[in-house]
Formats: sequence, structure tokens, C-alpha cells
Amino acid sequence: MVLQRVFRAVIMGPPGSGKGTISERITKSFGLKHVSSGDILRNNMNAKTELGLLMKACIDQGQLLPDNMMARLILHDLRALGNESWLLDGFPRTILQAEALDDAYSVDTVINLNVPFETIKKRLSSRWTHTPSGRVYNIDFNPPKVPGLDDVTGEPLVQRDDDTPHTVSRRLKAYENQTEPVLEYYRSKGVLQTFSGTETNKIWPHVEAFLQRKLTILSKKVAGHG
Ligand code: ATP
Ligand code: MG
Repeated sequence: MVLQRVFRAVIMGPPGSGKGTISERITKSFGLKHVSSGDILRNNMNAKTELGLLMKACIDQGQLLPDNMMARLILHDLRALGNESWLLDGFPRTILQAEALDDAYSVDTVINLNVPFETIKKRLSSRWTHTPSGRVYNIDFNPPKVPGLDDVTGEPLVQRDDDTPHTVSRRLKAYENQTEPVLEYYRSKGVLQTFSGTETNKIWPHVEAFLQRKLTILSKKVAGHG
């Protein structure tokens, strides 16, 4: 499908809800740019700058980084995309971040992946990541073609330091306390679309069909205005 106008979407959901996997499929199918706060932070940490090491300490404890720092980082990257359509993953995570985003852009749709915490806890222990690209695999339902290696580059996969059971609990707490209110924020604006389930491969067709409908409607609107 060819996009007729710039389209701006956010994907939300608890850690390990499949945001990374679904985001990759969305960007492939619909040609949006993927902007992932976690990937941006991990790239900073890999550079081993002083700021990167401070970030890592915070992230490995399952804590959120300061709102003003995150907003500056993300808005800077979004600005660089100009008039391209994007999908934002991992931001906003607090009401303050949502307001900062609102001041700069109007968001067309928010996709919310609603996956039970029990499923997530099991899932994160079988997750493997290709750090440079942010591609994620799951030994159980989305394995790499060759065990331990990235499908695209053939480089080795690693497990994230913040995927330990203790840190996962902290991340889920942060999600409940700080991020769930953001869902309410978007619901009251009428842009929230929730997809519930325990399997990414079963959730995906619903997300795909929803976006297909949504983009068709937007294209018609644009065409109607000549
Ligand atoms: P997933 O496992 O699905 O990627 P996640 O949401 O827990 O989920 P990331 O988005 O990769 O993981 O983020 C990793 C960590 O980076 C978070 O636990 C948090 O410490 C920090 N972080 C990422 N985005 C933000 C943000 N918008 N605000 C504050 N901290 C953030
Ligand atoms: Mg992620």
C-alpha cells in the first residue's frame, strides 16, 4: 500500500509484549520508519560513553531514564525524519513524555499490545537480540534460521542484561505505575487501539488488518481533498 500522507503511529505494551517483532513487521509491510527508544539507548551504551554507562546502570535496574533526557533524544531523532512516516516504539512511557510528544506532533494511532504479565515473564527468558539492528528472536515462537545467529547479517545474538527475572519484575512495576496511565491518556483522545493475546503470531494479523483499513481511510480522505 502506498501512503498518501505522513502517518505517525505509536506502539505500546509491557516489556516483552512483542513490540519489537510487531514493529519490524509493520515497518516492512507499510514502509514506516521504526524509532525505538530501547534500541537508541542500547546503541548509546555500546559506544561506552560516560552517559552510556550511566544509562546502563539505570536500565539494568529496570528503572526509567529521566523524562527530559528521553524527550530530547527522541524528538531529535524524529525531527531528523522530516516528513517521513514513523512508528514510535518505547516512547512515550510517562504522561510527561506523552505531552512532550503532543507538543511537537499529532499522533494518528496508538497500537496497544495487551499481553498478560505471566506470559511475559516466561517469554523474556527465551529472548535473543541482535544488538546492532535491534532485531529480536524468541527460541519458542520466532527462532532465527541458524541457532544463535542473526538472519540478516549472520552476526551472533545475545541475551539482554536487563532480561533477568529480578529486573523484569522491576520493569513490569515501572510499566504499571508510569506507563499504564499513558494508555488512558490516549484512550481519552480516541486514538488507542488495543490488541489482546498471548501469541505475537496470532496478534499480528489483527494489527495488519487494522492498519490496512486505517491507511485506506486516510488515503481516501486525502484524495477527497484533491
Ligand atoms: P521490550 O522488551 O519490548 O523492548 P522494554 O519496553 O522493557 O520492552 P526497551 O524499550 O528496550 O524495553 O527499554 C529498555 C529500558 O530502557 C527500559 O527498561 C528503560 O530503563 C529505558 N527506556 C526506554 N525507553 C524509555 C523511555 N521512553 N523513558 C524512560 N526510560 C526508557
Ligand atoms: Mg523494544
